[in-house]
Amino acid sequence: MITKISNGIILADGREQKTNLYIEDDKILALTDENLPFDREIDAKGLYVSAGFVDMHLHGAAGHEFLDGTVEAYQGISAAVAQHGTTAIAPTLAASSLESMKLAIEKFEEALAAGVPGAKLLGIHLEGPYFAMSQKGAQDPRHIRDFDPAEYEQIVAMTDHLLSWTAAPERKGAEAFGKFMRQHGILACIGHSDANCKTAHKAFENGFTHVTHLYSCTSTVHRINAFRHAGIIEEAYLNDDMTVEIIADGCHLPDDLLRLVYKLKGPDKVALVTDSMRAAGMPEGATVDGLLIEDGVAKLPDRSAFAGSIAYGDRLVRNMVNMAGVPVALAVKMASENPAKFLRVENVGRLAPGYFADVTLFDEGINIKMTMVNGKEVYSVQ
Ligand SMILES: [Zn+2]
Repeated sequence: MITKISNGIILADGREQKTNLYIEDDKILALTDENLPFDREIDAKGLYVSAGFVDMHLHGAAGHEFLDGTVEAYQGISAAVAQHGTTAIAPTLAASSLESMKLAIEKFEEALAAGVPGAKLLGIHLEGPYFAMSQKGAQDPRHIRDFDPAEYEQIVAMTDHLLSWTAAPERKGAEAFGKFMRQHGILACIGHSDANCKTAHKAFENGFTHVTHLYSCTSTVHRINAFRHAGIIEEAYLNDDMTVEIIADGCHLPDDLLRLVYKLKGPDKVALVTDSMRAAGMPEGATVDGLLIEDGVAKLPDRSAFAGSIAYGDRLVRNMVNMAGVPVALAVKMASENPAKFLRVENVGRLAPGYFADVTLFDEGINIKMTMVNGKEVYSVQ
């Protein structure tokens, strides 16, 4: 079955193209002005046509969190994010007990087997529990602990679907952890960490090639006995090969920091992530798990810090365009191609022949009109 998407502005390879997109079954067949035979046609009516967004860091949405440890959580979140253009996700588990991590991983496997209604499940991102207490953010301090090889080896052995693992490389045992992850093809990420620049660089050499939510729980310039030391943020800027992700919900980072990250890291090394929690999609003024939903973000009850975002993928792209002045085709690249590449997931995140037909259509305000996963419509505005 061949589907032709016509009359759209195709966002591919970082630029806008007025051409046709042909899909054969679950894959992209071609982007071409030529008229190929087709079975059905979708008239995009001037909308943008882009690869669906890939969220490499999200904990929940629409009342669910992956750590709930139910198949329904995976299915509910998959459906909710697809309404906002996201077609692939790396379910993220925050620091918790070994039992709850194992349960959530088992349910991931079950959800994968049962099928999900929207965004596909790429694999799991573990955020913790090997963190610096001083950079815990909204992570539960009861679950923060030292690297434990017996524990992480056990987790790696129980699933083939671990994509990435965020940890603090200044903790004892980080070098062995980084090397172990690299050996198993898992992306080690620096996060919730007070490492100085030199430690972060050493970590990079040991396999920690990505920084989790840059500026959120990441060290920067600080003084020890009058002498200044650089931090993780400076290492991310000094090291061209270090990739980063940013929570571009418009709250965690102001417009000038969005512009700075884009200016220094460019369109190839930055992934946009939501880091969304259960309250994504909930209205202002709500209280969820004791957190306040206010100003478009979840806050700790005393309003002293953010406790996760309530954004969806479309908002990230909209913010990069409107707040940081990034061309829409490059904002989309940071939301789809880059995260898939950083996670080393093949054939996902681009509109290119042979890639999965994960596609989203939206207007100039980045309002999602249709989402397609593996060539099948999973959401459309009637
Ligand atoms: Zn997170």
